[in-house]
Amino acid sequence: MLLIVRGIIWYGLYLFLILLPIGMAAVVAPARAAQSFLVEVAVGAGFIGFSLMALEFALITRFEAADAPFGEDSLQLFHNIMGTVALGFILAHPILLILSGYPAACWINPFSSCANLSTQTAFLSVVILILLIGTSIWRKQLRIKYEPWRVFHGIFALVVIFSALVHIVIIGRYTSTFAMQVVWLIYSVLVLLLIVWYKIWTPLNNWERPWKVLENREERGDAHTLVLEPDGHKGFSFLPGQFSWIITGKTPFSLLQHPISMSSMADIEPGGTVSFTIKSLGDWSGKKVPALKPGDKLWLDGPHGVFSMDREQAMGYVFIAGGVGITPLYSMLQTMLEREDVRPVLLFYGVANSETMTYREELATLAEQMDNLQIIPVFSDPDEGWGGETGFIREEILKKYLPKQYKRFKYLICGPKPLMDAMEEALPSLGVPRTRVLSERFDMV
Ligand SMILES: Cc1cc2nc3c(=O)[nH]c(=O)nc-3n(C[C@H](O)[C@H](O)[C@H](O)COP(=O)(O)OP(=O)(O)OC[C@H]3O[C@@H](n4cnc5c(N)ncnc54)[C@H](O)[C@@H]3O)c2cc1C
Repeated sequence: MLLIVRGIIWYGLYLFLILLPIGMAAVVAPARAAQSFLVEVAVGAGFIGFSLMALEFALITRFEAADAPFGEDSLQLFHNIMGTVALGFILAHPILLILSGYPAACWINPFSSCANLSTQTAFLSVVILILLIGTSIWRKQLRIKYEPWRVFHGIFALVVIFSALVHIVIIGRYTSTFAMQVVWLIYSVLVLLLIVWYKIWTPLNNWERPWKVLENREERGDAHTLVLEPDGHKGFSFLPGQFSWIITGKTPFSLLQHPISMSSMADIEPGGTVSFTIKSLGDWSGKKVPALKPGDKLWLDGPHGVFSMDREQAMGYVFIAGGVGITPLYSMLQTMLEREDVRPVLLFYGVANSETMTYREELATLAEQMDNLQIIPVFSDPDEGWGGETGFIREEILKKYLPKQYKRFKYLICGPKPLMDAMEEALPSLGVPRTRVLSERFDMV
């Protein structure tokens, strides 16, 4: 089925599930003493907030069928945005109730004499949700490491959902009809199934498909390339530019799961090796990865992602890489060579200098083998005597090299945030339509 059609179906389902509780409540609400309009709006806001929260799980479960039309990084971004939107709806719920005359003390102070289990669970849900979103937005500023944050993020999310559900059930007005009971049951089962799928089924499935380190070699630019071979299975096929979660640790349940782009050629035979090039940045990439030895076992959860030239057919390509952002583009170039793809491709590659240029020699060899490839290194801290481009990749440099038909090319960009931001300004200003630009951000969380 066409990706766009699948995308529309998933969006439709998402919208349907958000609006289902409020729609059902409107239709089958018990004819108890009518509540004020403000109270009904407050309840509606609470229901929408709750459905949004429940569906937050669905957006990050790496469910292939849902990832394919959008890309996991886009879903992750959507998950981040919708979390804040859910908080808005959930906060609106008590605020509107208080405005309509409900005693504020019972909601704000869980220990006040008028507080009961219903207000206390609501209070807990809101406070933990604020904590959950605050620690996600400001994780880096708060210096919280990714792994512990991920554990608490999951626990907080469960507490939010569970306490909100208890709150809804205790209030009872919208759980007293059979139809509404079915709706809430569906939501509870959905959340449970997603957790089982993501946290139990997927790791169990991966467990039977370990990978073995064949080689771990140092690369220019303070990086290591891991060459992995499937251990007792046929591995996987992937599109050039996609990524996998590399799971190191004793089992695939390990928290050490990092998204890394495949850097090797994509068109491999079943059982073929797959490579990843990882820049030393933190504990995992700087300590764990360099210490991996041939024969070590790990797991891959993949392939994932939509950053691939295979999904972006064009008469030619412009690849723009910053630092280790070269990895998915290097995979695409090798795949083009293998396929004897002769469409023109320009690679703008921003790095400090030739010493730190990951794949310097390999790219030089590729340029010799591919008449259709032009590489334009841009050095921010150039070597002495360097006569090429310097500084950062910018509009003036792009303009100098782009061929006449550049508006009909596709642009694939991968690098640090400043490069992506600069290109998102430079390309439209050169008249390149946004629809021709695809980017991959390495910092999706
Ligand atoms: C789609 C995608 C593809 C990537 N491909 C590559 C690649 O080919 N080569 C490469 O060197 N890097 C790649 N990265 C970046 C890489 O995932 C991080 O640099 C790496 O996880 C850093 O982990 P660390 O613990 O060593 O560093 P830390 O200093 O602990 O982390 C640096 C930052 O990386 C992010 N990060 C850390 N751990 C994780 C995790 N488990 N999951 C998600 N994000 C995390 C966080 O935002 C964190 O703040 C990619 C990222 C994404 C999203």
